[in-house]
Order: sequence, then C-alpha cells, then structure tokens
Amino acid sequence: YDLRNEDLKDLQELGQGNGGSVKKVEHTPTNTIMAKKASLIVLIDAKPSIRKQILRELHIMHDCHSPYIISFYGAFLSDPNICICMEYMDKGSLDGIYKKIGAIDIDVVSKVALAVLEGLTYLYDVHRIIHRDIKPSNILCNSQGQIKICDFGVSGELINSIADTFVGTSTYMSPERIQGAQYTVKSDVWSLGISLIELALGRFPFADSEPDDSDLSDFEGTLSPGTMGLPPKKDQDKTSKKDRRKSRGVSLQGGGMMMSILELLQHIVNEPAPRLTPEGRFPQAAEDFVDSCLLKDPDARRTPKDLLASPF
Ligand code: ADP
Ligand code: MG
Repeated sequence: YDLRNEDLKDLQELGQGNGGSVKKVEHTPTNTIMAKKASLIVLIDAKPSIRKQILRELHIMHDCHSPYIISFYGAFLSDPNICICMEYMDKGSLDGIYKKIGAIDIDVVSKVALAVLEGLTYLYDVHRIIHRDIKPSNILCNSQGQIKICDFGVSGELINSIADTFVGTSTYMSPERIQGAQYTVKSDVWSLGISLIELALGRFPFADSEPDDSDLSDFEGTLSPGTMGLPPKKDQDKTSKKDRRKSRGVSLQGGGMMMSILELLQHIVNEPAPRLTPEGRFPQAAEDFVDSCLLKDPDARRTPKDLLASPF
C-alpha cells in the first residue's frame, strides 16, 4: 500500500490514547478497512530528521508476520501527526471488553496469556524486539476469536521521543523498570502478569475497593510536561472517562493525583507483588502462572518462551 491521508475515509472513532486517536478507516482505492493511529504528542518536539528516522524504523513492522501480532499496512507523516495504519480488530481491546462485560473467565484469560506469550516470543526470537507496553488496551480481539498484540516498540527513535515526554510511563511497569534498569523481555512478562490479574478480577489490581474512582492504570499525560498545565479540554460535550481522569490529573497536579501515582510506583517497588485472589478462587495453575510472571527479581522471572511450557 502507498498510504496517503487523502485515500483514507474516516468511518468511526475507536479510542483515544495519549496524544493521539485511533480511527477505523477505509482505504478507498483498495476498499481495505484499517485502524489508523495518529500520534501527535511524540512528534511535537521531534526534528524532521528524527521524524524520518522514526518512519524508516517503523518499516520493520512490514516484516512482522505472526497470528499473534497485529498486521501493519504502513505509516506516513501527515503534519503534525505520525500515522500508523494497521489491521482493524472488530472486537477492540481487552480493557474495553472487561469494562463492558466484567471479569473475564479464567479459561479465556489463559488463551490471552498464550497469545501474548506467543507474540512476545515471535517478536523477540525473530526480530529481537521487546514489546515495552503490554497492557489490556494493547491486546486486541476479533470476531474470529483471534487475540493479537499491538503497539510494540519497534522504533528506537520513537521510544526515545516517548521517553522524552514521559508519555508511556505506566503502572504496568515492572519494579526494575521503575528503578531505571535495562528493559528486557522479562519486563514484558511482569506487565503480562498485572494485565492477567486485571482481566480475571475485572479491575486494575492496584486500585482500591472502588474501581471507578481509583483507576490509576493509565495515568499517561498526567506526568507529561507536554500536557501538564494545559486546561481541561472544553470543546467536547461528551467527556470520556479517560478525559475526565486526565483533567482531574491536571487540576490536581502536584497534589492528590500526582502523589498517588508516586506512591503507587513506590508500592510496586517496595511491596509484595499482587496475586490472583482470593486464594482458591482460581485454578492452582493460574495462580502459579501469575506468581511466576510477578517475581520481583527479574533474574528469577522466566522469559516468555520458557513460560509457554507452563501448565496454565
Ligand atoms: P491505549 O492503548 O493507551 O488505550 P491507543 O491510542 O494505543 O491508546 O489506542 C486507543 C484505543 O483504540 C485502544 O484502547 C483500542 O481500544 C483501540 N484500538 C487501537 N488499535 C486498534 C485496532 N487495530 N483495532 C481496533 N481497535 C483499536
Ligand atoms: Mg495502544
């Protein structure tokens, strides 16, 4: 595909991330349905040479072929955005699914674990790529029953630009990452463990009893110098939960929200890892699997490939 913005017809808004939106579009010359992700924030400060470098690096995604990885159609610059076109998944992401239907059956959670481990193993073994952003919103489903991962860190320059703005700091981050250690495939395994608990319990494991008001799973933007201090968006009458949370984060900057984020990061580093609870509610194999993903010492934690052999 030679992708150009003019050839892409917007069909539906699929979601908002930090500094970008994802839309269902039709590539009119070929009648192909795609998901178009337009990212703004990562490029605000990026020089033209960096932008081109990012585009070049994204091309690696053309060579990623796995039933567990979202297919890539192409990427292009459409000032001021960088647009990435990928396979459209008609059932959306797992966070959307569990927020709609509640906790996900543990047998289905084990299929999710399998798909993510297969995807991570493929990315690492074939392309030496570490995902870096495993979380329920980056695990997508379609009505054929396929489960695939998206938004992995193919581009070193893109990772750098994101790091520059703090966007992407997330509570799915492993203790060693929070402490600034090297990222390895094992950090993705931690994030998988947190995500699996979230799906099986139907709530983010670090939240308190009230899931709706204490959802710190996704505070990107709050810590970002790029967005901090901006007034809440006023031009939207229908404010999504995420937007409300973001505005609240901004209005409380330096206060409650920011403090609870830092406390949470400290909690991840200092306290025992979360578990599938209450004990006995889930099969032993599920408990054991999650425990092994959430070993705090990365040296003791196993790789995605090793974990593919586990009974769960
Ligand atoms: P985040 O992953 O942090 O939620 P993104 O900008 O990556 O932010 O994605 C926003 C939302 O768009 C996701 O939560 C997901 O529900 C939806 N989405 C992303 N990619 C696709 C896709 N390829 N097909 C269908 N929905 C998608
Ligand atoms: Mg995403």
